[in-house]
Amino acid sequence: MRGGVHRPPRIFFTNTLSGQKELFVSQKPGLVTLYSCGPTVYGSAHIGNLRAYVFSDSLARVLDAAGYHVRRVINITDVGHLAGDGDTGEDKMAIGAAREKSTPQAIADRYTREFVDDLSELNIDIKNIQFPRATDYIREQIALAKTLEEKGFAYHIKNGLAFDTSRFPAYGKLGKIDLITQRAGARVEADPEKRHPADFWLWRSAKPGDLQQWDSPWGRGNPGWHIECSAMSRTLLGQEIDIHTGGEDHIATHHNNEIAQSEAASGRIFVHYWMHNAFLTIGNQKISKSLQNDIYLKDIVAKGFHPLVLRYFYLQAHYRTPLSFSWEALAGAAIALDRLWKLSRDVARESTRKSASSETRNRFLAVLRDDLATPQALSCLWDSLKSEEYAPEEKWGLLEDADAHLGLSLLEPPELDILTVKDTPKEICDLLARREAARASKDFEEADRIRNTILNSGYRVDDGPNGPVLTRTAF
Ligand code: AMP
Ligand code: ZN
Repeated sequence: MRGGVHRPPRIFFTNTLSGQKELFVSQKPGLVTLYSCGPTVYGSAHIGNLRAYVFSDSLARVLDAAGYHVRRVINITDVGHLAGDGDTGEDKMAIGAAREKSTPQAIADRYTREFVDDLSELNIDIKNIQFPRATDYIREQIALAKTLEEKGFAYHIKNGLAFDTSRFPAYGKLGKIDLITQRAGARVEADPEKRHPADFWLWRSAKPGDLQQWDSPWGRGNPGWHIECSAMSRTLLGQEIDIHTGGEDHIATHHNNEIAQSEAASGRIFVHYWMHNAFLTIGNQKISKSLQNDIYLKDIVAKGFHPLVLRYFYLQAHYRTPLSFSWEALAGAAIALDRLWKLSRDVARESTRKSASSETRNRFLAVLRDDLATPQALSCLWDSLKSEEYAPEEKWGLLEDADAHLGLSLLEPPELDILTVKDTPKEICDLLARREAARASKDFEEADRIRNTILNSGYRVDDGPNGPVLTRTAF
């Protein structure tokens, strides 16, 4: 809280628990505790994963700008997360270690560093986020599992310690999923010793050759998939937290299991607002290595795009709406952001960086405080910057708000072309040079003809602040 009594503006979020838009009220005035499920660091985070973190960053920015101090945690899963849905499949860290002929520890180090670097490139405020690693919280996970066993919510069998879902009547309340009936009817490869297919591991007994294992009251082994989030969030943020985020794939199993563990142990509400982002898809398919459609931030940068183009691309869609990625759509976002940066530079010059309040700033804040409506916020920004109606100082004031909320470096746009196509074919370079010459001699008809020829060759040329900007439109 920044000095004095915090009187927060009204902010509304869709809470997955109720399925409704609700007025946000923090437990403690001026403070928000925010936990986001982090990646399993057995490989790079793809651009679908990164959507989840730009979403939680936008959320934190809205709260921060409204005067809250936001305590943020993104956990790093470096143990015990199985490849299958539920309690099945191979351990992902073991998959990563085998692939790179390395150790789980080295794999985790490498991909944690890469993940945090990606977030930083996307203007996510990593200095104000804690990134706890599951392997550093084994003691806390064991203690929580022990509490659950002592309270009668868990039973010990040959392969580990299982959570007894029949003892938690609210099981499946998130998303109102009848997991007990569903799992009972489904062909889930359950452990025959488990009392019910919906029951899940709190602790798994070590199998011969397991690379990661620790001592526990139930013998050597490793923690189950879900217990780390319950243990780390209560250790770092307290037993009741304000907001928990993640992708919508986590609603059914992972988050319902987190709720069951945390609420059974504490007897209190675990999370007051659950918020979930919809998926990023590629041509209606999920992003996956096996479909060979997995794209990473480094691929985007290698094609010459500024990383913030990806952030702009995400913000064009509401976080609860599925978003389909294509290189053409990304190129469109690049052109839009380039223009926005140009407009921002103009406003900086004309206003001499002095700000004034205006009704458009209020509108901008109102749409973001209404369940983070980033597409409406962007269109409000565009309309106002292009309008003659506002004084340069009013536009600068809007840019200050937009910069704080959207994280697009609007106050200090990078002084570089937003994208330069690497390895541009020689014939395209020749066409570009001919177009520049036509423009210089004011032969705009010829310049337009050449632009069309370039377009038909799979490239698009726009006139950026530092000269022509070339975008690939066909890949
Ligand atoms: P994981 O490492 O699979 O736990 O994923 C890390 C985060 O990314 C979780 O919050 C997931 O729900 C989220 N996520 C995974 N795939 C996508 C996707 N294609 N689009 C949006 N979010 C995703
Ligand atoms: Zn989690």
